[in-house]
Amino acid sequence: MSSLDDHETITLPAPAPNQNYVSISALDAGHLTLPEKLFVTDADPDKRATVPSLSFLIQHPSQHPKTTPTNLVFDLGLKRDVSGYRAAQQDHIAQRQPTTASPDAAASLRAGGLEPTDINTVILSHVHWDHVGTPADFPNAEFVVGSGTQHLLAHGGGPLYPADIFNPDELPSDRTRELPPVRASDAAHASACQTRHAWTPLAGFPAVVDFYGDGSVYVVDAPGHLVGHVNVLARTAPGKWVYLGGDCCHDARILSGEKGIALYGDGRGGLRSVHADTEVAAGTVARIARLMKQGRVREEGGREVRVEVVVAHDGVWREGNRGRFWPGRL
Ligand SMILES: [Zn+2]
Repeated sequence: MSSLDDHETITLPAPAPNQNYVSISALDAGHLTLPEKLFVTDADPDKRATVPSLSFLIQHPSQHPKTTPTNLVFDLGLKRDVSGYRAAQQDHIAQRQPTTASPDAAASLRAGGLEPTDINTVILSHVHWDHVGTPADFPNAEFVVGSGTQHLLAHGGGPLYPADIFNPDELPSDRTRELPPVRASDAAHASACQTRHAWTPLAGFPAVVDFYGDGSVYVVDAPGHLVGHVNVLARTAPGKWVYLGGDCCHDARILSGEKGIALYGDGRGGLRSVHADTEVAAGTVARIARLMKQGRVREEGGREVRVEVVVAHDGVWREGNRGRFWPGRL
């Protein structure tokens, strides 16, 4: 983390003359129970916390005043039907009890007056079991995932990420689009190379994609947690931004610096964390944390801006922000 300059000002792009802003609403999408010692340093060895796996509805204004907004959902939480998980996934889920999956993402959308069929795009931060939800609920959506995700679903990712904890049929193959590889060296492993969305540096992040091409929603490459892990940085109002951090960390005290990333035995004589690459994940956390520094984030042209960071499993945020769940908004 020390390689990043904490005193540097982070610059976000200035709004365009007719800037589009998005409306973001949190969605309950199930809960699971995490033993604290696997996630944060200096943990209470016996403490377990039941936490949400949050989804978010992001509504982008239509270019045409008489049509409805474009609806994007970021992450889908848990499947309501456990039988939709493979046997090895169910063995893992048994260690995360209690879990709940009611309401799931689809039910939360309906409760606020939107049908899952109204969703145009689903972006998954990554394809762990507690984020993939029930893709079949979204028959009209294009699924967008980070580079390498489809290879991971089909083949797993090494000894700590065996193929049987993923489902090769998780996503609809005819409606899934993988973002292009971020690093040139990854290109050989990419199942698809797309040119529609090109990665560029922004706000201290090496690689983001301007998702709608209008500076309203950026998909951020957020490496470390799992192959293809992506976040979202979005403009919600003049001077107001929201950063959806997925599983960059599972406890907001890691972002504030109060806690570190826990290490534990990997069952093979080494140490691991909940992240595929702990050092890279720590670098991602450091970049996100810089967005949270009051007075250190400005838009081009000088306006000081506020960036609210929300991570998927933050139960404290959920308790304090009930009015911002759909049909409420952030
Ligand atoms: Zn995860």
